[in-house]
Amino acid sequence: MTYLIQGETGDWEVVIGLEVHAQAATAAKLFSGAATEFGSEPNSQVSFVDAAFPGMLPVLNGKCIEQAVRTGLGLNAEINLDSVFERKNYFYPDLPAGYQISQYQQPVVGEGKVTLDLADGRTKEVGIERLHLEQDAGKSLHDQDPRRTFVDLNRSGVPLMEIVSKPDIRGPEEAGAYLRKLRAIMRYLGTCDGNMEQGSLRCDVNVSVRQAGENTLRTRTEIKNVNSVRFVMQAIEQEAERQVGVYESGGEVVQETRLYDAGKGETRSMRAKEYAHDYRYFPDPDLLPLRLTPEYVEQIRATLPELPDQRKQRYMESYGLKPEDASVLVAEKEAAEYFEKVAEGRDGKTACNWVMTNLFSVLNKQGRSVTDSPISADKLGKLLDLMADGTISGRIAKDVFEIMADTGGDPAAIVEEKGLTQITDTSAIEAAVDTVIADNPGQAEEYKAGNQKVIGWFVGQIMKATQGKANPQQVNQMLRAKLSG
Ligand code: MN
Repeated sequence: MTYLIQGETGDWEVVIGLEVHAQAATAAKLFSGAATEFGSEPNSQVSFVDAAFPGMLPVLNGKCIEQAVRTGLGLNAEINLDSVFERKNYFYPDLPAGYQISQYQQPVVGEGKVTLDLADGRTKEVGIERLHLEQDAGKSLHDQDPRRTFVDLNRSGVPLMEIVSKPDIRGPEEAGAYLRKLRAIMRYLGTCDGNMEQGSLRCDVNVSVRQAGENTLRTRTEIKNVNSVRFVMQAIEQEAERQVGVYESGGEVVQETRLYDAGKGETRSMRAKEYAHDYRYFPDPDLLPLRLTPEYVEQIRATLPELPDQRKQRYMESYGLKPEDASVLVAEKEAAEYFEKVAEGRDGKTACNWVMTNLFSVLNKQGRSVTDSPISADKLGKLLDLMADGTISGRIAKDVFEIMADTGGDPAAIVEEKGLTQITDTSAIEAAVDTVIADNPGQAEEYKAGNQKVIGWFVGQIMKATQGKANPQQVNQMLRAKLSG
């Protein structure tokens, strides 16, 4: 199921590499003690270091290193015990120092891999090239005044982990799956909150195309700063189609940086792509090389939580879930925890069904997340118990669930109050069965003549007559006995 673009000259494959800038979850910046909190007054979280006052020296925040190493371990990556901070030189008004402190030749994290969970249950491995630490720049505000631009330095010096994938991604679906997985891993690890709207996860997308069967890479373009999974997927689709169009009309794709305009649904050229040598990288003389000990790395490894892949495996083994269901549940830590509470001591597949079908659709409708679900895991569990012990039928359970979604009420109390207890009293069911058979002699004859399917119709009629409260198994048995008698 490879993603291919059908052109006039044949099928084209899309080759994608992603560079993700993930803000490391820390209270203070990478080289200063200023706060990193989102949404504060402009320029209220700026130290002299962040404003690049002359003579100010950067002091490395150890928490950022810990978060980078933890993320590296979560990406099954090699941790480099020796790494170096370098200056990446360029001019921009929101970069007062004239350079960004980053890592270039020796990043703190080397090669790793991430497993994608695709919609059809398949998995695919994507290589990680590296993860390095760097500072964020400030922000130029162009929309506050018609004639002036303002600079907000709150983000200046905020710690970023730049995670670079190998060009292993083939199409928008895989790119979406990669981003969602990366975000899930970092949320499990507590190393990045993954909030794309607040800019704590931003993505640069490298795209090239080649004819199916080619095995060298063609020229790529880079789409900068795309800020949602959906936009990343759309940008890839648009850009790949544009490139195919260029080649098929006899042109050449030029290496450049492009912007995705979500309003117009197209990418457009921003500037000619710069090369690494344009930045004049060199080791920052204000910072010593970073040396980690193997013990330090092992200490962090020892505190890693269960990660999405392991949890998915556990759900498949201990609850018998299908891989595609297990991946959906583990994608969000909170949803996974909710599911486990519901499944505890109950049938895992039933719990999975109710969480994924009924609960998720209610949350969707109400625009809520699982952490402020109107139905607690405890109450959903109790509802499943009422079904399992035969107090209510599956059909009634759905009604009770709807009431719970509106009121947050307790299932047993709702069943009691509305008189929804399943009728298991044989004589009451028998009366309903007799009435329906007597009222429908035609259908009864059909059954006797060998049309087994009519039994389903009869069950439906009896469930209707009992407002769904009859026990369907009992109805079924009784009907068969009476109709064949
Ligand atoms: Mn970067």
